[in-house]
Amino acid sequence: HVKSGMKNDYLIFNKTIETQSIERRLLESAMRTAIKEDQFYIEYQPKINIETKRVIGMEALVRWNHPDLGTISPGKFIPLAEETGLIIPLGEWILKESCTQTKKWHDAGYNPLTVSVNVSVRQLEDPFFIDKVRTIVQESGLDPTWLEVEVTESIFADVKNTVAILNEIRNLGIQISVDDFGTGYSSLSYIKNLPIDILKVDQSFIKDIHQNEESNAIVQAILKIADSIGLQVIAEGIELQEHVEKLSINGCKFGQGYFFSRPLKVNAFEEFMESMLVIS
Ligand code: C2E
Ligand code: MG
Ligand code: MG
Ligand code: MG
Repeated sequence: HVKSGMKNDYLIFNKTIETQSIERRLLESAMRTAIKEDQFYIEYQPKINIETKRVIGMEALVRWNHPDLGTISPGKFIPLAEETGLIIPLGEWILKESCTQTKKWHDAGYNPLTVSVNVSVRQLEDPFFIDKVRTIVQESGLDPTWLEVEVTESIFADVKNTVAILNEIRNLGIQISVDDFGTGYSSLSYIKNLPIDILKVDQSFIKDIHQNEESNAIVQAILKIADSIGLQVIAEGIELQEHVEKLSINGCKFGQGYFFSRPLKVNAFEEFMESMLVIS
């Protein structure tokens, strides 16, 4: 009995692995086609000054509009793009598109907006990364002081020469933001030693900040540390009025989340900006 049981488990296990690897190969080749055929697009989620309620910028979030499968979320394809290296050409396209769009918005007279672009570890490890960023920013005509790069805490564990790479980015005038702050490699020493500008408090702390004393205490501590060493803080995943109230009391100035707006396509972002102008 034991033996046949094991055999079955083995078969099931094997089949699953095989199915997964077929799916992955399909997805990978679909992604190559998608880059060529312009199936990717960017949505922009407004970032808000909680005190003044004005839009201060937006985070660029990539979307994949597959002709048969519809919209595929980045949670599905970004990890695969990272494993296969496709994140390198895709990441370049994302940066280029985001900078070009932001420049258009500046030229159209929207208040200067900062754009945040997520960058994967794999991209930072690319020896040509800095040259590519420099070229893309120059060609877009965007003043680099309006660009932020979002990295996750994992780069501090995974990437060699992190300090040198981040410094090169900063020397271009670009700001560095630590995404999902508090969930990753939680050694606090790096925020003292590394060239970073902004901490982006992870949504898991914001979600229950109004009902959980521990979450609230963590957010307060992050705000205090950040303030004393001169870093900005932005809260992500704000969904409720209660979240906004709690963050205001704590003195957190900036936030983003469904409470203000979901990530928006270009037209919808423009409509959102117009509606905010009418209100304020
Ligand atoms: P992230 O950078 O931490 O982005 C925040 C995610 O939370 C986004 O999911 C956003 O749509 C979602 N979100 C925003 N407000 C709320 C809220 O109030 N409640 C909740 N529950 N969620 C909210 P999305 O767009 O599905 O992206 C997921 C992750 O995929 C991102 O997390 C980022 O790690 C990665 N990603 C997205 N776009 C890119 C990209 O262009 N390049 C790279 N390298 N990674 C990307
Ligand atoms: Mg992000
Ligand atoms: Mg995040
Ligand atoms: Mg994330």
